[in-house]
Amino acid sequence: MWQSEVRVDLDAIRENVTRLRAGTGAELMAVVKADGYGHGMIPSARAALDAGADWLGVCTLDEALTLRRAGLDAPVLAWLLAPGLPLHEGVAAGVDLGAASLTQLDEMVEAGRLAERPARLHLKVDTGLARGGATVADWPALLEAAAKAQADGLVEVVGVWSHFVYADLPGHPTTDRQLAVFHEALDMVERAGLRPRYRHLANSAATLTRPDTHFDLVRPGLATYGLSPVAGERFGLRPAMTARARVMLTKRVPAGSGVSYGHTYLTDADANLAVVPLGYADGVPRHASNTGPVQLAGRRRTVSGRVCMDQFVVDCGDDPVVAGDVATLFGPGADGEPTADDWAEAVGTINYEIVTRFGGVRVPRVYD
Ligand code: PLP
Repeated sequence: MWQSEVRVDLDAIRENVTRLRAGTGAELMAVVKADGYGHGMIPSARAALDAGADWLGVCTLDEALTLRRAGLDAPVLAWLLAPGLPLHEGVAAGVDLGAASLTQLDEMVEAGRLAERPARLHLKVDTGLARGGATVADWPALLEAAAKAQADGLVEVVGVWSHFVYADLPGHPTTDRQLAVFHEALDMVERAGLRPRYRHLANSAATLTRPDTHFDLVRPGLATYGLSPVAGERFGLRPAMTARARVMLTKRVPAGSGVSYGHTYLTDADANLAVVPLGYADGVPRHASNTGPVQLAGRRRTVSGRVCMDQFVVDCGDDPVVAGDVATLFGPGADGEPTADDWAEAVGTINYEIVTRFGGVRVPRVYD
């Protein structure tokens, strides 16, 4: 018998990848960083590869090596690499590395020397996000150094790439501006004598709405898990995650009872309260206090009072509710349960953050 669980529907991941794959002529990198956006990195990666994903995308070297240790030998790109990491382990394991500075390039040359094979690099240009990537001003120097290192057999430049600011707002002019900057950056790549096999730019939103940004490879993360990056659009995707728990205890309390820490909720009539054993240590945002939607005892209800570390309470009014009843926080929404989008709206965040919070150490992940 389970107490709380995060169910992950791997068929949904397969279906989403198939759908995304059908919508592009490019190769597809399933982004499985952050433990597969909370869905479990290894099972999600396997499901995505089963459905035709060509690449896996992660942030950290550790994530990439974990994929390799699990026996996944598909192309992998890792792109969030602080100085001093044992990059040679990644190179030896055939992990491609994102490079955005001369310092990183130097480290990758050294990693290739240690691994006795040239590091495979994807040079990243900052087209406007001002996060990862070399600035346009620094781009020529990076290209020149990378071209020289490649000519010397020290690295292999496999890709050139960037990342969008506003792809989740279709029609936003920044996306066109970034695309133009990317084209200019690609011209410079050619002038530097580099001919990388992969040019890539599109996240989920651009994969779904901007075919002109697909180039040779698209990098959907969120959409792989069936969530939409664009408000009000579903794109026929199937959400893969359901988070639920069984009511631990019920009680009848009189009108005017304060509920949970700080008594921020008062029952307005005699009420049946249900105690649900999931809290902020399990991924339920504390901001869901008095706002988070829950499907319980046949109806959509709201978290009553503060979310605690391990539990929260739901006022079920006069409706019958008993210990063992299932409280569904979110799921695909097919049976009237709230969705991750509903939770995001209720707590003032994005669906990305909702799913990545769940499936931590205490809540078992169960795969369908
Ligand atoms: N590419 C990069 C560099 C990213 O950082 C991310 C996620 O943040 C993605 C692709 C996937 O983005 P999304 O989940 O919006 O598809």
